[in-house]
Amino acid sequence: MASASHRRSLRKRRALAVSAAAVVAAGAGAGVLAMNANAEAVDLYHQALPAKDGWAASGTGTTGGAKADSAHTFTVSTRAQLVKALGSASDATPRIIKIKGTIDANTDDSGKKLTCADYASGTGYSLAAYLKAYDPATWGKKAPSGPQENARAAAQAKQGKNIVFKVPANTTLMGVPGTGAGIKGGSLQVKGVDNVIVRNLTLSATEDCFPQWDPTDGSSGEWNSAYDSVTLRGATHVWIDHNTFSDAPFFDSAEKSYFGRKYQIHDGAVDITNGSDLVTVERNQFTNHDKTMLIGSSDTDSTGKLRVTLHHNVWKGIVQRAPLARIGQIHLYNNVYDTTTLNGYAPKYSIDSRAKAQVVAEHNHWILPAGGKAAKLLSGDGTGSVVGSGNLVNGTQTDLVAAYNAANSKKIKTTVNWTPSLTAGLQTSAKNLPTELASTTGAGVLS
Ligand code: CA
Ligand code: CA
Repeated sequence: MASASHRRSLRKRRALAVSAAAVVAAGAGAGVLAMNANAEAVDLYHQALPAKDGWAASGTGTTGGAKADSAHTFTVSTRAQLVKALGSASDATPRIIKIKGTIDANTDDSGKKLTCADYASGTGYSLAAYLKAYDPATWGKKAPSGPQENARAAAQAKQGKNIVFKVPANTTLMGVPGTGAGIKGGSLQVKGVDNVIVRNLTLSATEDCFPQWDPTDGSSGEWNSAYDSVTLRGATHVWIDHNTFSDAPFFDSAEKSYFGRKYQIHDGAVDITNGSDLVTVERNQFTNHDKTMLIGSSDTDSTGKLRVTLHHNVWKGIVQRAPLARIGQIHLYNNVYDTTTLNGYAPKYSIDSRAKAQVVAEHNHWILPAGGKAAKLLSGDGTGSVVGSGNLVNGTQTDLVAAYNAANSKKIKTTVNWTPSLTAGLQTSAKNLPTELASTTGAGVLS
């Protein structure tokens, strides 16, 4: 463990680096430059994504709510205040929303705690009745339909109305340092809008009270849930920086099974789908989660888009999809993957490249437990590519694709159609990343 003073100096160095980068970012001109000329004048809430910092820096870059006036700068600490500050999803006025402390999404407008039973109330839904109605032994393998499925959907919609926060264009959402800021049980939805920043938040316990049974999902059926902690759909220029994502405190290992399958109440941590494009996901911690990050919702999601950079993130105790990449040009550098089982989350693979995804993965660092195999770090459908060097597995340079391809019939392709150029902060040695990222990632680091 780093000492407290060591951590402080790391933080300071990081802060200085960010300030310097912000000056460079503003170097192209515009009114922001005058403010940024004195780096100290730009606080964390007004920071834009630095120049060349991944795909979200492309074109107009990502400034979030940097230009917000005082009337559109909010400090919120309850769900109702957050909803009010977000305003209308179609109002693109720049806004900064500072989140102080933890907001529980499952509360009503007066702050009263809402339970799954509260959402089900009045819909006629009960899990017992649902299980009775759609037991494959009697219902068969067709999709659930009829009164109990309608009731489930109605209850789910009631919860969704409460816990989904629609983020408008030109918004920065940031946790106030030192307040343990975050959202519990919520889902930030960035849909069809441009220019959004999400920083310094612990986004935890995003749970669907009303999972749907899909008997046709896989060979044995699956329970599917609706909410990601952050969901991007048709979103562009999004910077997701210094957040912590976790299922805690309720882990999948505590879930019951029905119809022989796990009753899964969690969906993605950050899902980037429906033609989303130009996204940078940086210095986050992803932990205690199964399906962590989807890029592209299907093999036909959207061509020419889904360009995403993931760098300096820590993935620890996650099962899969870090990410599951489809179609797009995706750059992964300087990430740390710790594939030791944590709280029952046993890793299956780290990166899945499918549907012709063009993945460049370089200078990442894997920590494998005893008996862990480099051949199991990738996954694919035989059409996706992965290239890139400098990846370390337990400290040793490893060709992940060669290891995977030697053990699998659906080979990962070894050429891509692009060369990353938006690579701010890329370190050409992954050796020290586990130590460095332990104190420079996740919520609570920025100050
Ligand atoms: Ca799902
Ligand atoms: Ca999802």
